[in-house]
Amino acid sequence: MPLTTSLLIRGGRLLDAATRSAPFTDLLLTDGVITQRGEPGFPAPPEVPVFEASGLLLHAGLINGHTHGSTNLAKATHDRWSLELLLNGAPGWAANQTLAHKALNTTLGAVEMLQKGCTSCYDLTFGFPLVTVDELIAIGQAYVNAGMRAVVAPMLQDISFYKAIPGLYDMLPEQLRQQLDAGPGDTGFILRQMEEALQRWPHDKSQVQLGIAPTIPLHCSDELTRGCAQLAAKYNAPLQSHVAESKVQAVAALQRWGHSLTAHFEQLGMLGPTFTVAHGVWLDDDDMRRLAAHGSSVSHNPGSNMRLGAGIADSRRMLELGVNLAIGTDGALCADNQNMYEAMRYASMVSNVRGPDYTRWLTAPEVFAAATAGGARATGFHQAGQLAVGRVADIVFLDLNAINWIPFNDPANQVVLTEDATSVRHVMVGGQWVVEHGRHVRSDLSQLAQQAQAAVAELSVANAQGTYLADALEQAVGSFCIGLCRSPFHVHRYGGPLGL
Ligand SMILES: [Zn+2]
Repeated sequence: MPLTTSLLIRGGRLLDAATRSAPFTDLLLTDGVITQRGEPGFPAPPEVPVFEASGLLLHAGLINGHTHGSTNLAKATHDRWSLELLLNGAPGWAANQTLAHKALNTTLGAVEMLQKGCTSCYDLTFGFPLVTVDELIAIGQAYVNAGMRAVVAPMLQDISFYKAIPGLYDMLPEQLRQQLDAGPGDTGFILRQMEEALQRWPHDKSQVQLGIAPTIPLHCSDELTRGCAQLAAKYNAPLQSHVAESKVQAVAALQRWGHSLTAHFEQLGMLGPTFTVAHGVWLDDDDMRRLAAHGSSVSHNPGSNMRLGAGIADSRRMLELGVNLAIGTDGALCADNQNMYEAMRYASMVSNVRGPDYTRWLTAPEVFAAATAGGARATGFHQAGQLAVGRVADIVFLDLNAINWIPFNDPANQVVLTEDATSVRHVMVGGQWVVEHGRHVRSDLSQLAQQAQAAVAELSVANAQGTYLADALEQAVGSFCIGLCRSPFHVHRYGGPLGL
């Protein structure tokens, strides 16, 4: 008989967001799984160690539906930036990272997420040829070492950003265009690398699985998109893509294909229950119906959408039409932090500013469900997202004596609208303690700070030419995209009138 590890958690209150309550509940964990949940003091074998949780509120670990572990070294490096300016600026932050930089970048995000109550994430990381298969495996190892669940999905593209948007490349200044590497990627190489990574993936898929992220539909040839869908089906790998994140993308799709990004992906076999749209700001009803019919998900990333001026997604309509809703922060380059409590609060508030009918605003229980059970479905970690018998013990322990919880009123509202991660005391993933007394137990922050500062210095030198070129192109790209955004479109997602 293999040895089993058990732990009894006694005296805590367990959040039941759906009923806006937090009854005192004891949990028995066996080998990282919740095997009993019941009234305080339920009988248990005397030899089982007890964790005393009085004064603590337990909730399921939050699940970040969309982030980029590749951008944590670049947090808060830019002020006014749209999505398209960020993509234009990629050579300034994405290039020339060594394996050590890539692992460190990933670790910084994992530590921040864990310390802020998030136990699983969907990481759209470096794609080929920026990353090798060995480096991708090392990025997965960074999550294993941090003690976090993750989908690691390389961002794939074979069409340059400058060629993806009709008309953009041709209007760039001639002398700058000559310095750009805007040629097509090697589709066959990208797909072969992706398949090799799927074949060689050494990590326990219940903790760190490999996904596939054709990054933006416009950046992928039909051959690449079809190839990604086929690999996903063959290896049962999850798929994610930035679909209709910006109005630029939505308008450019109509210009290029005569139909929407979602319709295009449906034609190429991308939609299905393991497919997640990141953002989905500019989806219309028809797009949402297509996603719902295939059982697909949307990761709603309201902080990033506001930060990049992408607009306000209609999360209520997604739920009404049957789309599974998850919530994400997005990467540190366009969210500046990795705080899922903040993402939940934003998700609540941006649904309110869409209109005066308060009966259509997202409720706190709906937001919490999206950030837990919805994320579990989108990531494929189906045993996470809920503290119930048979589910994994991914548990956040909040201090009810922290100022956010004084006084204790409605715990569903309070976890979504009041909590800011400063009450997180302990976090376990699969029954293993990864955060104790607010600190990640497997890392030394002062050492991480030294490594990160050195990496930033190295990368600023290595990427100086890329940064120079991006800065030189910024105004041309920015003004072209503003012009595109002023063209008529049948949905409106900006906070203000069109064109202002
Ligand atoms: Zn993203």
